[in-house]
Formats: sequence, C-alpha cells, structure tokens
Amino acid sequence: MHSGRENMKIAFIGLGNMGGGMAANLVKAGHDVRAFDLSQDALDAAKDAGCATFTSAKDAVANAEAVVSMLPNGAIVRGVYGEDVIGLAPTGAVFLDCSTIDVATARDVISSATEAGYDMVDAPVSGGIAAANGGTLTFMVGGSADAFARAKPILEAMGKAVIHAGDAGNGQAAKICNNMLLAIHMAGTCEAFAMAEKLGLDPQTFYDISSVSSGQNWSMTSYCPVPGVGPQSPSDNDYQGGFATALMLKDLRLAMEAADASDSAVPMGSRAAALYESFDGAGNGGKDFSAIIKTY
Ligand code: NAD
Repeated sequence: MHSGRENMKIAFIGLGNMGGGMAANLVKAGHDVRAFDLSQDALDAAKDAGCATFTSAKDAVANAEAVVSMLPNGAIVRGVYGEDVIGLAPTGAVFLDCSTIDVATARDVISSATEAGYDMVDAPVSGGIAAANGGTLTFMVGGSADAFARAKPILEAMGKAVIHAGDAGNGQAAKICNNMLLAIHMAGTCEAFAMAEKLGLDPQTFYDISSVSSGQNWSMTSYCPVPGVGPQSPSDNDYQGGFATALMLKDLRLAMEAADASDSAVPMGSRAAALYESFDGAGNGGKDFSAIIKTY
C-alpha cells in the first residue's frame, strides 16, 4: 500500500476517532510514530498500536522528520502549529495537517510554516472511521509541488488515493465543495422520495426508475436514505454509523464561511446548511446525515 521510505520518524498529533487508526497504519508501514494527544485514553490506545507516546506536542515533534495532525478545528490547528510545532520541529521536517478546517486558517498556517522554512500541506480526508482504520482514506492535498511530493508517500500509507488539488488550502476547498454538494444531493434525494410516496409511488419503484434516469446520484444509488431500498446503508441500520449529522453540519458551516469570504453565490448550499442546522438542533447530531429524510 505504501511506497515511502520506512522508518521515518513521524510525530502524530490528535489520535481520536480518525487519527488513532491513521497513526496505527503508519506504524504498520514501518514508521517510528511519536504520538501526542490531550486525552490519556487516546495515548493509551496509540501505545497499544505501537506508537511511542509523549506528554507534550513539543516533545513529540522534537526529532521528527514529518508531523501529521488530525485535530478538531482550525483554532486548535493554529494553536498547535503556532505554539508547539513551527520552530520546534527540526528544520527540514514536512508537516501534514489532515484535519478538516477553514480554508483561510489552512492558508495562514501553511504560510507561517513556509516562512519558517518548512514544507507543509493541508490534506483533509474523505472517508470515515472505518476508512481511517482500514487505510482506505482519500486525501485531497493543497500545497507546493515539492511539499506534495514529500507528503505523498506518507499519505499513501494511510489511504487508497492521494490527489493534488493545487496550492495551499485547496485540499480544504475541495473537501468543503464536495461535502456541500453531497448535502444538496442528500436533501434533494430525500425530498424526491418523500414526494414520490405522497403521489402514490412505491419507494422501490421510484428507485428503480430514478436510479437509471437523470435524477440518479450517489446519495440515491450508494447511500439511499429510504430503509430497504438500494444497497446496504445507514438507513438500514436505523441511521446509526455512517457520516454523523454533526460532522456534515461542521463541513457545511465551513462551506458557508468560504462562500462568504469568496463572494460565491450558494443558494442551494445555504438552504442545505439551514436544513442541517435545524436537524442537528433538534438533537439528531449523532444520527447519520441521511436521517434528515425523517423531516420530510
Ligand atoms: P476526535 O474528536 O475523535 O479526535 C480529535 C482528537 O484531537 C481528540 O483525541 C482530542 O483529544 C485531540 N486534541 C484536541 N486538541 C488537541 C491539542 N491541542 N493537542 C493534541 N490533541 C488534541 O475527532 P475525529 O472524528 O478524529 O476528527 C478529526 C478531524 O477529522 C476533524 O477535523 C474532522 O472534521 C475530520 N474528519 C472526521 C471524520 C469522521 O468520520 N470522524 C471524517 C472526515 C474528516
């Protein structure tokens, strides 16, 4: 799966639901992984997976040739790199932030790292916890050609596809535009199934027709929100597992921020964001995002 040099010293910061499995895959690929997380449980699990554990980010990055981070949000990414990584990791180390964060923060942090003489990429992922554990994530990567070339073999040890999206921040841009489109497709698919049923169509019959007609889309044919229709998906498991509504909402908020900052017209995206805001606000944050069909 990986084509990079083995036995690189790689610091890994943020070993939660996603980072834990990703760090374990770097260990399996033969790397010397130096883990730091604020949570002792996360550190204990990382130790079991074969990582060396440290009590501060500074200590974890001290001798690292590469630093990978998988953190909750942009403010934390800015704080960790600003305080504990830039200027503290050895000169010449490459930094890979795999968190999903806003485009502006990604560009700022990469520019600070670059000014201090480091190569850095933003490399957010598509795929959830199962893909993180299984090493089958897709990485969309922003950064210079040199930074991408150095990051690629490390990412290949954790994923099935690594795509260069262009300059710094473009990985985040690709991620939020993709997920905004996914939310629009899902909401539209739910709307169409609900109306079809009210008009007297059987959901399976509507699926059989629309899945081979021009309304066909991934939310319908790979992830159908109607239980018992289409391939196995979270709707068949009472909307447990899958991609949580709270995480979809996080990405939609980032998309709306980016739309404002870039003066982009997003009438459909903003409507989908409003639908997910209210669905999440009604206590559905932990349910798969296809559960929004219950509101139609
Ligand atoms: P998580 O909350 O499970 O993990 C985040 C980890 O970061 C936690 O263990 C936390 O203790 C640690 N942390 C927080 N602040 C820290 C700090 N200052 N120093 C060190 N560690 C710190 O979240 P997750 O589900 O693993 O998601 C991580 C990132 O991946 C997020 O940006 C998320 O949007 C993105 N993502 C998640 C999924 C998913 O399905 N969970 C899918 C795609 C992308």
